[in-house]
Amino acid sequence: MTNNQELLPWEAYVSISKVCEYLPPRTQVNVACPKCGQQLWRRNDIVLTSYPEQYQYECDGCGWVGYNFR
Ligand SMILES: [Zn+2]
Repeated sequence: MTNNQELLPWEAYVSISKVCEYLPPRTQVNVACPKCGQQLWRRNDIVLTSYPEQYQYECDGCGWVGYNFR
């Protein structure tokens, strides 16, 4: 097996995973809630293990929750 590919050391790989834990739990997106029109949040910590994966969106105004592929 040729090894001309630059491989990442395990320690670096693990530290990249740790960076993800410092992401805020959710980000506000420029999408209006389909129920009440308030700005929606996209969860960073909830990803459905469907294929392709889906992300959870939620509204603080009315409690609406939805899922989308991006
Ligand atoms: Zn709403």
